[in-house]
Amino acid sequence: MSPDELKIITAELGLPSFTASQIAGWLYGKRVTEIAQMTNLSKVAREKLSEKYEVGSNAPIESFQSSDGTRKYLFKVDCPTPSGTQRSIIEAVMIPDGDRATLCVSSQAGCKMGCRFCMTGRQGWHGNLDAAQILSQITTIEESARLTNIVFMGMGEPLDNYETLSRVLNCLCAEWGFAWSPKRITVSTIGVIPQLKRLLDEHKCHIAVSLHNPFPDERLEFMGIQRAYDIRDVVALLKQYDFSGQRRISFEYTMFAGWNDDRRHADALGRLLKGLECRINLIRFHQIPDFPYVTSSAEVIEAFRQRLLHSHITATLRASRGEDIMAACGLLAGKMSQAEKSVVSE
Ligand code: SF4
Repeated sequence: MSPDELKIITAELGLPSFTASQIAGWLYGKRVTEIAQMTNLSKVAREKLSEKYEVGSNAPIESFQSSDGTRKYLFKVDCPTPSGTQRSIIEAVMIPDGDRATLCVSSQAGCKMGCRFCMTGRQGWHGNLDAAQILSQITTIEESARLTNIVFMGMGEPLDNYETLSRVLNCLCAEWGFAWSPKRITVSTIGVIPQLKRLLDEHKCHIAVSLHNPFPDERLEFMGIQRAYDIRDVVALLKQYDFSGQRRISFEYTMFAGWNDDRRHADALGRLLKGLECRINLIRFHQIPDFPYVTSSAEVIEAFRQRLLHSHITATLRASRGEDIMAACGLLAGKMSQAEKSVVSE
């Protein structure tokens, strides 16, 4: 909640209005996990608050550490859906890299988008996370205080939960909130155009678009979103904005052997992105069960990268991290959810 929303609560409870900024200070500055810890509030104020409210802090239930330092956290969440409240497990992944520590957070339990190469997509959608469930991933993990970057690239399509995402970004970046710089936050999307436009207009964070194939008919084979929002229209929208300053746009391009990794694709990418100040992140594909494609070889990826450079497009190869703890989006949470379900059915 913002201070303005907290003011409505303090007014309802008959508390002095300055209590709202005190509460915000406790929640976001000192990161308390219980109302009882807000010790400069009167005893009466704490009691009145506790009758109706709680701090929405949700600690992880388990974590797994990779040999490369990557750490995956699992959280239990209850999400309202049209068919009732659903309990699910979601994940956040902390990726250390020298002085940097990046947290990859989830925005939904599961996902509706059904991209064929994605384990989260296969699980289907189990509800939208609320702002507290998203912020808890950031505030409750062991490395919280030393995080340098946040990327919305975990489970779910962030722009399919836009109102909540927007609340979270406001809370993260506001002076009354966590006072993060938007330059340290990246929102990833497969290209939901109306909400992408809102994100571009309303927030200053970086944006990463999952592109994966420059040819519309081929992209549609793996990504159903292409039917509703053509990647060419996504790029046309992005070209209306300025990315030469602080805000950056990047494209995620997972390399699948024999599907999207030849010269024809590299040249089409060059044509598609011509005139847009951007970079492409080439990503090795983490194998998932029952999917017929494998990652492109290191040689093919390097040749692809060189071909993009030839079209004056900066392309970098993103290092794969945490494969031994199933860090690929949705892999571990999917497995845990299955295990939970089998325990329940037993
Ligand atoms: Fe959803 Fe992203 Fe997976 Fe596609 S890649 S199914 S948008 S989580």
